[in-house]
Amino acid sequence: MKEIDILVSEVGPRDGLQSIDAVVPTAVKNAWIRAQADAGFREIEVGSFVPPKVLPQMADTGVVVREATGIPDLSVAVLVPNLKGAENAIAAGADKISIPFSVSETHSLKNVRRSHEQMFEEVQRIAELVDAMDDKPHFEAGLSTAFGCTIEGPVSEDLVVRSAERLMECGVAEVGLSDTTGYANPEQVKRLVRKVQAAVGKESITGVHLHNTRGLGLANALAAIEEGITTIDSSLGGIGGCPFAPGASGNIVTEDLVFMLQAMGLETGVDIEKLLAVRNILRDALPDEPLYGFIPDAGLPKGFQE
Ligand code: ZN
Repeated sequence: MKEIDILVSEVGPRDGLQSIDAVVPTAVKNAWIRAQADAGFREIEVGSFVPPKVLPQMADTGVVVREATGIPDLSVAVLVPNLKGAENAIAAGADKISIPFSVSETHSLKNVRRSHEQMFEEVQRIAELVDAMDDKPHFEAGLSTAFGCTIEGPVSEDLVVRSAERLMECGVAEVGLSDTTGYANPEQVKRLVRKVQAAVGKESITGVHLHNTRGLGLANALAAIEEGITTIDSSLGGIGGCPFAPGASGNIVTEDLVFMLQAMGLETGVDIEKLLAVRNILRDALPDEPLYGFIPDAGLPKGFQE
């Protein structure tokens, strides 16, 4: 396999689909994941283990994980809100388990009905569960609302750093920074990445999860990369949107991110022509859903060499 410089982690099947009301059939999810792995993706977040009555779109995550673990050289990532979700993720054979930790405690109480202390306890229980396994999945905590919260507004950077330290003490292998609300700007990304790196060590923060709600997704991704971040989350067609900003895209558009990186000479391992073809699977499955991205519309520059 090619050495890569940046790992583009596709989160569309989770972050994208969970914010769309339509329930995409399991067979379509499987075909999407397989096609994207075939285009060279090494990590895909395929779903989340949340109660089906909360998110019916994610009810088949166990089946999707089992199918995806059969794909060679693919790290199968899932999101879990709690211990129960982690148990299901482990039973299904997920390679990577992420739990979101809202740095805004108001957001945490509203979203998962847990205070910070309750979340730390939950994270510790999951870490103990993972630790007892022979073949340990990678367990990560994502610091969501790290760049600002739709309820609280600005979020204290010191609190982000302290939360990162506590989560590491609770036993996660790594922490990540998430711009859940699309509030981040490049200078803030650089500053916060540096602060968290200084607190937990560079090896314990390698990824960021950014949204493109206000058009700064790629600028923020580049800022993170300049500070040594090597994993960037993105979603095919930027699907997901934002419930607070109709018409705004959701995550960074995978197609545009891969183009930027490859054009800059940063290897992602992705075949961009194959990636652009994967979009057809989504378009057919979700004909009413807007798909975003400049590269899919404008095409690759003449003579573009990957
Ligand atoms: Zn997200």
